[in-house]
Amino acid sequence: MRGLAEAGGSADTPGGPGGSFSRTGWTEQERYNQEWTDLRAEEMEEWSPQEIISWAVDQFGDKLGLATSFQAESSVLVHLFAGATQQARTFYLDTEALFAQTYMVRDRLIERYDIKPVRFRPALSFEDQATVYGDRLWETNPDLCCEIRKVQPLKLALSGLDAWMTGIRRDQAATRAHARVVEWDKRGLVKINPLVRLTSADVWNYIAENNIPYNELHDQGYPSIGCTHCTRAVAPGEDPRSGRWSGTGKIECGLHEPEPAEATFSI
Ligand code: SF4
Repeated sequence: MRGLAEAGGSADTPGGPGGSFSRTGWTEQERYNQEWTDLRAEEMEEWSPQEIISWAVDQFGDKLGLATSFQAESSVLVHLFAGATQQARTFYLDTEALFAQTYMVRDRLIERYDIKPVRFRPALSFEDQATVYGDRLWETNPDLCCEIRKVQPLKLALSGLDAWMTGIRRDQAATRAHARVVEWDKRGLVKINPLVRLTSADVWNYIAENNIPYNELHDQGYPSIGCTHCTRAVAPGEDPRSGRWSGTGKIECGLHEPEPAEATFSI
């Protein structure tokens, strides 16, 4: 499959960004921290997604990674990111329970934008996970399941980066209402959210105007898409995220927690 390495282990071999970018941001050698990101967030609050992405590419070069979940926001980010740099470093977390439609849009984005998303996988297969923690962990302890299949692989994906970029928006959930354009991720790097001020309508208008490939599940009642085991379609008018971990009270997978949970399992 073009652009995708399928190596074993927890991360596929990066296909490629390499190269170098000129760093013409605010400083050349400053240490990133909470104070730095607070200042940037204030200054950049009114910036457009394109301006934010151009700045990020310039500021962080090949130390910037774009996280893709292959939902609508990811499609927009891939489109913008590819327009800002030919050396886009993109990655995704393959929980091994993604929908077929998610892999389909991944492949369409690879084809259209020539991206080379690196796949990060959990250390445990679902079979091994069941052996160690019992069957259907996504029902008995979804936080632990997400920790194993998402949070820990993300930690690996972020190692060596100075910044990562996400598609979160403020109106997606109450937990995201105060997200900022630039944030300090307690994992020890900068987090950039170029779409944070956009509405869902903004995203869909942009996709339509630019004919950007998107996940077909969005047309089938899935406004938010995660794993097959714990994502369901929602009825019109329902909370867009109510189809995630339905009935468990869980609303986030832990990737965007201000304080990442300590690993509560051993392998
Ligand atoms: S979204 Fe569900 S299946 Fe996927 S890692 Fe989290 S709990 Fe497990």
